[in-house]
Amino acid sequence: MLENPPELTAEHWDRYSRQIGPGVLSREGQRRLANATALITRVGGMGGPAALMLTMAGVGRIVIAHGGELISPDLNRQVLGSEAGLHQLRAPAFADRLRAMNRFVDVEAIAHEPNDDEACRLAERCDIFLSCPPTFDERLRLNRAAVRAGVPLIDAAQWGMSGTLAVYQPGRTACLQCVYPEPPPFEEAFPVVGAISSAIGSLAALEAIKILSDTGKPLWGKMFTYDAYHGYVGTVELARRDDCPCCGSTVETR
Ligand SMILES: [Zn+2]
Repeated sequence: MLENPPELTAEHWDRYSRQIGPGVLSREGQRRLANATALITRVGGMGGPAALMLTMAGVGRIVIAHGGELISPDLNRQVLGSEAGLHQLRAPAFADRLRAMNRFVDVEAIAHEPNDDEACRLAERCDIFLSCPPTFDERLRLNRAAVRAGVPLIDAAQWGMSGTLAVYQPGRTACLQCVYPEPPPFEEAFPVVGAISSAIGSLAALEAIKILSDTGKPLWGKMFTYDAYHGYVGTVELARRDDCPCCGSTVETR
């Protein structure tokens, strides 16, 4: 939670009026969002739309992390990018785009992917992690930091016209390493269609909004799978491994 949460004014309530009411957020839920900090890394095909939706929904502080410059092949899916932003550092430019969407939200940009220590420090000051990197090394690193700090983690993944979304709660559900004990092989330039990236990223944001605002039933301990190529949609329960080297000894929850 933010140390100095913003006072919500009539302007705030007007901005968020379409998402407050029966079946959506309560006013208290909107206040919770405004008091929360979310980390999104990275902010490309999935993390970009996720960051955009969290910014527009009114999460108080958004921290985005992404290294490198925007290149032409990114523009089939990275919605925070633009032709004008080609060959520029992504994180600062993407942060500006988010700020332009909602002046009530604090946006912080980190122009690289966090290492182990940085991920742990971020977990100490964030209420949720949205993990959207392409590599399992990075995803497992975020998972370790989240488990250690007791921070919920939403893991989004994409390939081709398929995507998965899993929602982990340290101490209560499986963690990412329970599901993937070893990082699977990584393919640098894998195929992906932007529409699936945005779909999974938006759903990741929706789960984060539910968790942060205490609204509805989050997909705790479940993996949602959408294989658009074969026309399959499903959800599976994720089993916790007692011998998981990451979460095997956790008993506490936050
Ligand atoms: Zn585990």
